Amino acid sequence: VSPVGHTLPSNLNAVQREAVLYLSGPCLVLAGAGSGKTRVITQKMAYLLRECGYMGRQIVALTFTNKAAREMGERVKTLVDAKLAKGLIISTFHSLGVRFLREEAAHVGLKPQFSILDSTDALAIIQEMLATTDKARLRAVQQTISLWKNALMDPDAADRAAATPSEAEAAKIYRNYNATLEAYQSVDFDDLIRLPALLLQSNQAVRERWQARVQYLLVDEYQDTNECQYRLVQMLTGSRAMFTAVGDDDQAIYAWRGATVENLAKLTTDYENLKIVKLEQNYRSVQRILSAANAVISKNPNLFGKKLWSDLGVGEPIQVSAMDTDEVEAESIAIRISAERFERKAQWKDFAVLYRSNQQARVMEQALRNLRIPYTISGGQSFFDKAEIRDVLAYLRLISNDDDDPAFIRAVTTPRRGIGQVTLQTLGQFAAERQLSLFAALFEIGQTERLPAKQLEPLKVFGAFIQRIQERAGRRHSQQVAASAEPAGAILDDLLGAIQYERYLYDTLEERAAQSRWQNVLELLGWLKRKADEDELNLFELVQHVALVTMLERGDDDEPDAVKLSTLHASKGLEYPHVFLIGVEEGLLPHMGRDEEDGDPAKAAESLAARIQEERRLMYVGITRAQRTLHLTWCKKRRRAREDIVREPSRFIDEMGLSAIKMQEDPELQSLSPKQRLGMLKALLNKGAT
Ligand code: ATP
Ligand code: MG
Repeated sequence: VSPVGHTLPSNLNAVQREAVLYLSGPCLVLAGAGSGKTRVITQKMAYLLRECGYMGRQIVALTFTNKAAREMGERVKTLVDAKLAKGLIISTFHSLGVRFLREEAAHVGLKPQFSILDSTDALAIIQEMLATTDKARLRAVQQTISLWKNALMDPDAADRAAATPSEAEAAKIYRNYNATLEAYQSVDFDDLIRLPALLLQSNQAVRERWQARVQYLLVDEYQDTNECQYRLVQMLTGSRAMFTAVGDDDQAIYAWRGATVENLAKLTTDYENLKIVKLEQNYRSVQRILSAANAVISKNPNLFGKKLWSDLGVGEPIQVSAMDTDEVEAESIAIRISAERFERKAQWKDFAVLYRSNQQARVMEQALRNLRIPYTISGGQSFFDKAEIRDVLAYLRLISNDDDDPAFIRAVTTPRRGIGQVTLQTLGQFAAERQLSLFAALFEIGQTERLPAKQLEPLKVFGAFIQRIQERAGRRHSQQVAASAEPAGAILDDLLGAIQYERYLYDTLEERAAQSRWQNVLELLGWLKRKADEDELNLFELVQHVALVTMLERGDDDEPDAVKLSTLHASKGLEYPHVFLIGVEEGLLPHMGRDEEDGDPAKAAESLAARIQEERRLMYVGITRAQRTLHLTWCKKRRRAREDIVREPSRFIDEMGLSAIKMQEDPELQSLSPKQRLGMLKALLNKGAT
């Protein structure tokens, strides 16, 4: 029996149903948090598959995070048979971009196995060109380039638009940076969307092919699209414009990445026949939470009037606690979660702790660990995505498969061994002409006059070094692994010693960062060796195994029963029964990290106002993640760079409307020592257990 009834769509209110059934043209669902926008998307996919004869591969649904994509996929799976859903693309904009570029690589001058640089890699390239160690300046240039890319401006346009000398310099670097990416056969994150959008725009054949393929497109969180994404959607759907976009202008939180909420308004002008559906019932939160959210967001000017109501009851009072320090904040929340889990007969995963800045996670993690409370973190970096882990894995990948150009690039340039951009560009061109991998090209380019001896030498040394390790690992000229292969563990140790990776870390980073990265490398090494011993794997098998694990970690894992720690940004679209919003202080939320650039004071004031509005939307996103209870905390003192800074509660607390809030100071918890707090926890646990 199918999990749903025969008539689709099910479990929808009249307005949601209208949005699902509408297939006469483009459709925009514009509605506040928790009103079922994402539900409309999943139900509409099910409707298209089950009732309208669409095939899985004709439907594409786009969203912003891997997690959101995964959740959406799971929701659809409960609505339709796996067979019907086959081929369905539910992905982030970025992974659709990867898929697109793999297929169309030749049209944009890439090999299908192009590599994807993360922002650390990209920053390193910029650093090389800018010849400065001023991190703030480097980031500013990177950010500017990113904004240009997202606005679909090429280096020429950027050059023309540059108004200040520093922008002109950034434009020059932009041109250079693109050339370097090309030489490396690499793209950055922005390119994953920009290149497909540009190619679709310029190449009619490609455009027609993709338009024939994408019969229906759905986009979640539309308010956070940037110019590139807007264009991509437009190009994929063409004049038939068979798409549904859902969004909430009050939840636009990516302006700093070039997203423009005007894209919502633009739809209404670009598509005359656009159907607009507004949802007003909130199915997520109790009334008190909703009222607080509405009160906060009403302080922002808004594009479209929206009102939300809920019939889930009034709910418990929202709590606001002032804490002495961030450590006390973290500890008392950990204790509270333990206690409430018993009192409410809830699970760990019913609790989420949300914060503005990633740095707040560390103290919170420590407190949870002390109490042995399981937790997961999102919005942070995965182990296998860390630069140092990828550095080491790049060597291993190259050793086992020397056609892996991205690995070659990473290994040959990390640590630096006197092989510069020009050398690599020449090698890259030579490899492209002869259709060779970079590694193979390195041996052949020596037969020509293409590189002067001084540039050739370090390449040859590197090539010989990799070959030596390949032989030790048991690989001769065939793919067969020789019986004389040395154990993987010994080879790994020698490899790290030979490239002097630890020294490289300490040479290029501050001591603490170097230390923590080296720790990670040792952890990886220990893990690899254990794996090699346990399963008797040779080095090549080991590398394949790692690739698999990496994929698994990034892929589908069951949600464990654990407290969720998340940045506000990463919590978008999700919901939790009990939410703790921490660090609700002036300076942190709203965040005041980046200083206004000095210059025109009127402009600075305007951008400050714009920033506060964006922070307010972030606050709105945070509040509306909560289903049943919401607890805000702020700290009177917060430690920053070994200094205690006195803090004030956020203006957003006032804006929530005090009548809905029960101010609570938690005096009992404040005055206790950590040990006393632990004792108190134990008492609570005992109470809960009986
Ligand atoms: P956000 O703006 O935060 O992304 P949203 O508008 O996408 O929110 P959903 O996540 O789709 O909202 O829905 C919020 C909650 O309400 C979900 O738990 C969903 O299952 C539930 N819900 C939505 N519509 C209905 C309905 N018609 N009947 C019952 N529950 C519903
Ligand atoms: Mg949603």
